[in-house]
Amino acid sequence: MPRLAAALILAGVALAALRRRPLVGHWSDCAVHSEPAFPAGPCDCGGFPISRTVH
Ligand SMILES: [Zn+2]
Repeated sequence: MPRLAAALILAGVALAALRRRPLVGHWSDCAVHSEPAFPAGPCDCGGFPISRTVH
């Protein structure tokens, strides 16, 4: 059942994203945003701090 497997993978990715809560942002041309067109690489933009009070 490929569709079930895909759903499970998506659920796992969503959970991981919710858990991570990154405090560092990346510019749109950073390597970490290369997916899905290319494999995501290590940060090459230096990043910038995200304030917790922005939301
Ligand atoms: Zn970056």
